Amino acid sequence: KSTTVRNIDGSINNIKEDDEDDVVDLAANSLLNKLIRQSLVESSHHVEVLQKDPSSPLYSVKTFEELRLKEELLKGIYAMGFNRPSKIQEMALPMMLAHPPQNLIAQSQSGTGKTAAFVLAMLSRVNALELFPQCLCLAPTYELALQTGRVVEQMGKFCVDVQVMYAIRGNRIPRGTDITKQIIIGTPGTVLDWCFKLKLIDLTKIRVFVLDEADVMIDTQGFSDHSIRIQRALPSECQMLLFSATFEDSVWHFAERIIPDPNVIKLRKEELTLNNIRQYYVLCEHRKDKYQALCNIYGSITIGQAIIFCQTRRNAKWLTVEMVQDGHQVSLLSGELTVEQRASIIQRFRDGKEKVLITTNVCARGIDVKQVTIVVNFDLPVKQGEEPDYETYLHRIGRTGRFGKKGLAFNMIEVDKLPSLMKIQDHFNSSIKQLNAEDMDEIE
Ligand code: ADP
Repeated sequence: KSTTVRNIDGSINNIKEDDEDDVVDLAANSLLNKLIRQSLVESSHHVEVLQKDPSSPLYSVKTFEELRLKEELLKGIYAMGFNRPSKIQEMALPMMLAHPPQNLIAQSQSGTGKTAAFVLAMLSRVNALELFPQCLCLAPTYELALQTGRVVEQMGKFCVDVQVMYAIRGNRIPRGTDITKQIIIGTPGTVLDWCFKLKLIDLTKIRVFVLDEADVMIDTQGFSDHSIRIQRALPSECQMLLFSATFEDSVWHFAERIIPDPNVIKLRKEELTLNNIRQYYVLCEHRKDKYQALCNIYGSITIGQAIIFCQTRRNAKWLTVEMVQDGHQVSLLSGELTVEQRASIIQRFRDGKEKVLITTNVCARGIDVKQVTIVVNFDLPVKQGEEPDYETYLHRIGRTGRFGKKGLAFNMIEVDKLPSLMKIQDHFNSSIKQLNAEDMDEIE
């Protein structure tokens, strides 16, 4: 028995039963990415634009000054250390700030500047002197709503009279309370209650409506319907914006239902390649042998930083215990940990405080740890029936061509998995050399 899950990058993964509790939680993964992200994700692709009205001129900006923002907002942007708009912001900001307001559907992978863009749009459209909700942003979870709120607070640091309020479960406001804050960020269910049951928000006064993380949103039961009910009550002149990290058909259908007359902006994801990666395999009798082989190469892998992948959570735990008992310094990134705990482990790893990280697919999926130069597949990624999982293999080992560094990959292969490995080699048309683990000199 196995469970199919959708990863944060939109790909599909089959999880075997003993890993079932390790199923990817899209919202948690997205939060994790936000917690560990320190800078923009680069992309060599061009932004693709589909205009609502193809005859109207298309503007892009190379500086924030060109946007003619309020002084205090510009100050906030520079205080955050932003020097110039990101790739997606170059195109999205002029559309978002246009008069009359334009609707927008934007898709690009996480870390490309979407949140900063819509926060800027909300802050520039808000009237600080009017004390009622004017901007409404829907997020899939409480934690993600808080993250967006932090960006509003940072960027709006000098917009002193602009305030944020969270419409999230647990924030209980008595019916009919007069809300004086201008920006509301919340989850669809609670926002719906605040609008219709508690009459806290007058939707007819909303000027900017943002639906963030649409792909995560439609993954949560009921959230699409809640969002659509909210959207239907907005005035026609309200600006409607939707953002998503992935763009499968389901997201697209939802986006088209909820955003009328949209402009569409897309930034394709960098593709992964194995070109710069030297790949090896060590043939082993059974698990103990694989462990021994790993210990033999341990000295070499700790020259850089390494991630060791196991197929199941149980295996990852076993391996960690063995290695620690043998005096190796490794840390385990496990699905059992909270998002905050995971973020802190990844942070330690990034800071170089940990050299070796042991993890499972699901845990590390969608998280880029750029400085990793060595990847060990303690277990080869396979689907049901021992069919190799090509995509996961590429994901673990591949690097984006332009920004990627050279790397090393080791596969610990039990004899019966050799055919799967050969299939992987053929599939990617890239050679995986056999290595005798006792003789590390073979590594060129
Ligand atoms: P997304 O919403 O697409 O995941 P974010 O807006 O959260 O992306 O941006 C990712 C990271 O890049 C954040 O740390 C953010 O502060 C930073 N960032 C966003 N826009 C810029 C910019 N124009 N210049 C520099 N850093 C930026």
